[in-house]
Amino acid sequence: MNFRYQTTGQLKVFNPAPILKGNLNSTNKAVNTSTASRNRCGASPNVFKIYQKLYDYYGKQHWWPADSKFEIMIGAILTQNTSWRNVEKAIENLKQKNLINPKKLSKLSISELSNLIRPSGFYNIKAKRLRSFLNFINTKYSGSIEKMRQEKVSILRAQLLSVSGIDEETADSILLYGLDKPIFMIDAYTRRIFSRHGYFDAKVRYPSIQKFFMDNLPKKTKIYNEYHALLVKLAKDFCQTKPKCQRCPIKAL
Ligand code: SF4
Repeated sequence: MNFRYQTTGQLKVFNPAPILKGNLNSTNKAVNTSTASRNRCGASPNVFKIYQKLYDYYGKQHWWPADSKFEIMIGAILTQNTSWRNVEKAIENLKQKNLINPKKLSKLSISELSNLIRPSGFYNIKAKRLRSFLNFINTKYSGSIEKMRQEKVSILRAQLLSVSGIDEETADSILLYGLDKPIFMIDAYTRRIFSRHGYFDAKVRYPSIQKFFMDNLPKKTKIYNEYHALLVKLAKDFCQTKPKCQRCPIKAL
């Protein structure tokens, strides 16, 4: 079956892979695609149809909101365990001092950095994480986002995961939104929506969920970028702790 979807104003055609059967990783709890078809409304959605429906309903989300790729990377680290509103305040402090630059930022002491990013919460820990990330980017890539972008995604991902305080979600945010690499990122909203629809248990490990999405979507940065942003919007508007299924745009899928 062909589905039409719209990414940049043009219609394209894609043959989606069938929903995988059985577990994606035998060491994991089930990614249960044999029952991956029941939402709370009893409908039978699939991964690409959900994307298509959300895109049609909401339109382009223009993620990630930032003035530069380096700002996205800083935001990806600062947003751990806090709201985006708090991250914006911390980034504004850095902007006011013209510090959104790997080399300039690395000249600050940990206490100066902590003080500036204080609104983001856990600021002492995050200052150390930022410092580790800055050491990485300055040492490996001479502080150049462009050099970083030229590296293969698999190598970059392994490098990022070796930096203290960078977990899979943060690494994938940096890769997808900061470097335009084709990798699908998973967050709590993704887990919530798709586990409610029976695709997998909410506690299934990150790599299996990521594989599930990447196996069932075209390998395109624009789609991964847009899909994640659309899921965040859906979770905030409808798939909240107490879901509002009756008015949800994907209730009929
Ligand atoms: S709110 Fe929407 S996404 Fe969440 S369970 Fe209900 S129908 Fe599914």
